Amino acid sequence: MSIAGRHAIVTGGGSGIGAATAAELARLGARLTLVGRREAPLAQTCAALGGERAYQVADVTSPAAVAAAFAAAVKRAGPVAILVNNAGAAESAPFLKTDLDLLERMMSVNLNAAFLCSQAVLPAMLHARHGTIVNIASTAGVAGYAYVAAYCAAKHALVGMTRALAREVAAKGITVNAVCPGYTDTDLVARAVDNITAKTGRDADDARAELAAVNPMGRLVTPQEVAATVAFLCSPGAASITGQAIVVAGGEIMT
Ligand code: NAP
Repeated sequence: MSIAGRHAIVTGGGSGIGAATAAELARLGARLTLVGRREAPLAQTCAALGGERAYQVADVTSPAAVAAAFAAAVKRAGPVAILVNNAGAAESAPFLKTDLDLLERMMSVNLNAAFLCSQAVLPAMLHARHGTIVNIASTAGVAGYAYVAAYCAAKHALVGMTRALAREVAAKGITVNAVCPGYTDTDLVARAVDNITAKTGRDADDARAELAAVNPMGRLVTPQEVAATVAFLCSPGAASITGQAIVVAGGEIMT
């Protein structure tokens, strides 16, 4: 089934990779619902999109908020055929300074939110015998990195959930994949640069260059490159691809 006319929900759709994904799916004719906590970026992103689109203000870590937002979205635009679990956050700390609250924050937004949103859309996908779920994980979902144990744990868990659910629904016309970006040019990386400069006193350009150097291409990935991969996974040509963790990181990780 082509993307045109299908209802797609993108969590964290107001900024960065989510906004780029929304733009790409809108360009391909999807009917879009964007979800996030801050209304201003959602409204701004929505206004810039063509086609049929709307947004819901919701914290996707809250079961009640997810239930309400998804019910409203379905009422407006019909059953969800594409879900992009993109909302996420990355906090860093040395392992011995990582407390349980930080671990729980990372699990809540990077794993539990995808779990809640997937449960919200799956019954209708099973009924339709068709659907696509794409989880935005990270290179930190398939490899270890220093100072981000909580984020790594949550993104590895998200990849694990992706694989398990993919197997469970493979015969039901539903694909479930993860996309694993390397450092991508978004607010999230801008915050990481601020954090490095605050903690080390280093120049922001230096900090940014150090993150870009992790990528063998010597640059940050663009949000549009991640969005193009998500759109491919939602396209009919990707119908046999499920349970995969596709790395978009300029060759940083090779499997
Ligand atoms: P971003 O611009 O900060 O996007 C994160 C989005 O998630 C925001 O729109 C934010 O909107 C939303 N969000 C966060 N917590 C939420 C919550 N509780 N409920 C609803 N929405 C929430 O950064 P990004 O880089 O595009 O990140 C998108 C995804 O890519 C994340 O899952 C991130 O882990 C992943 N990723 C990013 C990179 C990178 O280098 N940039 C690399 C690998 C993976 P509100 O604040 O308005 O809620």
